[in-house]
Amino acid sequence: MALINSGADPGVAPARPQWDIVIAGAGFSGLVAANIVADAGMKALVLEAGVGPGGCAAISAGIIWAPLSSEELAAYVPDGDPALQLAYCEHFQGAAAWLRSCGLPISDMQALGSLGNGVVMQGGRSGDQGQFMSLMASRAQAHGATIRYGSPLAGACAGADGYVVSAGGAHPATVQCRALLFATGGFQGNRALLDRFVGAGAGDGLFLRSLPECTGAGLTAALSLGAATSRNMHNLYGHTMPDAAVSIDELQPLTAYLAAHSVILNRDGIRFVDETEGHLEETTLESGWRQPGGCYFLIFDSKIYREHGVDTGISSALPKIDRMRRWREIGASVLQADSLESLVDELHRHEHVDAQQAFKTLLSYNEACLDGSTGALDPSRSRNPSALTEPPFFAVRARGGVTATCGGIRVDASGHVLGEDQVALPGLYAAGVDAGGVFGRTYGGLLGWSLVSGYLAALSVLRDAGAAKASPQQLVKQPAKG
Ligand SMILES: Cc1cc2nc3c(=O)[nH]c(=O)nc-3n(C[C@H](O)[C@H](O)[C@H](O)COP(=O)(O)OP(=O)(O)OC[C@H]3O[C@@H](n4cnc5c(N)ncnc54)[C@H](O)[C@@H]3O)c2cc1C
Repeated sequence: MALINSGADPGVAPARPQWDIVIAGAGFSGLVAANIVADAGMKALVLEAGVGPGGCAAISAGIIWAPLSSEELAAYVPDGDPALQLAYCEHFQGAAAWLRSCGLPISDMQALGSLGNGVVMQGGRSGDQGQFMSLMASRAQAHGATIRYGSPLAGACAGADGYVVSAGGAHPATVQCRALLFATGGFQGNRALLDRFVGAGAGDGLFLRSLPECTGAGLTAALSLGAATSRNMHNLYGHTMPDAAVSIDELQPLTAYLAAHSVILNRDGIRFVDETEGHLEETTLESGWRQPGGCYFLIFDSKIYREHGVDTGISSALPKIDRMRRWREIGASVLQADSLESLVDELHRHEHVDAQQAFKTLLSYNEACLDGSTGALDPSRSRNPSALTEPPFFAVRARGGVTATCGGIRVDASGHVLGEDQVALPGLYAAGVDAGGVFGRTYGGLLGWSLVSGYLAALSVLRDAGAAKASPQQLVKQPAKG
């Protein structure tokens, strides 16, 4: 099999594997796996495209959560893979206990309202968990793992006793390994793959609420080795974002969580989505990028902003900040008026929104809120009915921001990569967002899934290699060394 984009001559590779395992990606799932295999004494090489560790986890809110049970997850995400959902929920507590045993700064397990329960990274702040992720990387290194930064996985092919892996970057290299784990964080940063799997135009229409490094290198390499794609390749997870240039370190704090309390209109002045579907309005982006101009408008009044704009009320891990002030500072289009009539006029003047239709839609919405019939609206409004009555009124131009792709490499519940025939490809594993299919139109915790899938894939690596320490019990009983 030919190397894809190898940038190196496979002929120069040594004949015998010099690494027990190569892990592509030093984000959350990759570092979970690196710590486990390094603890077990495996010779592990982590290839990381970026200049430091952490991936999207380093810019996240750090809330590592999972639903309380697989039944709850299945009810909420009915289109996800049942076997993956079961493994996820059954092993979450064990994987979190292992993470805590590593001596990393992390909260106790806590209830997280409608989300389920979870643990929260400590020592950073929302959007900056770099310290936590650096500690994870240092711990893996202290236990023997090698991490090469600026060294992206560029391709892989079958070798004599495992895989020949090529790394690009400033110092291209080719290495041999017995096992290869894909943990490159999904393909949301790759316009061509978004167009191919999500829909033509998705690449341009979506706002990237993720690191640009997540370009689907793991998926591309796995497919070249015979892997199958998972279910739900077209589904995405993400949030509404102001339509402006948001720096990477503000992706989390500037997320428009109040979208689930607003009325959402497109340029035709029409509601096109139930603003409240999903735990955290995470489904709006799927239809949002398909609207005229790829954008949409959040309409809310002063009461909604006061109650949900600054303090999201979702978790104390999300900061209380005057988001509207920051949106204006970074140049987002924020319109304000003392009446709904004036607001739709402003929307027409500045954003070419159909003012007549917009006004009609807002009046119908208000009436439905007041007489309790929002469920009969089309599309219905299932939660948070709140009539827009308190001036001033606001309109913010927004876009659907993609954080992660829900489809990816097909895996079994132990993290083995599967071919079209559902048979595991020897020595190939995937974790985190690369391991697709557990979520679909809705989702149930990405850091939680990345933790559990990294943990289970690493246990499979150990088990398949015949290593002694391959059961969860043995892992957690180990005294924390880091
Ligand atoms: C703003 C924001 C806030 C979030 N908040 C939360 C939250 O509070 N709770 C939650 O559950 N989820 C949250 N998430 C999602 C969560 O952070 C990610 O989904 C999670 O980190 C995924 O883990 P992963 O290991 O799959 O990928 P990542 O952690 O993103 O790691 C992937 C790594 O692979 C690297 N990589 C990419 N391509 C290559 C290549 N070719 N070779 C080598 N390395 C490569 C990347 O540089 C990256 O370091 C948030 C995400 C964002 C962007």
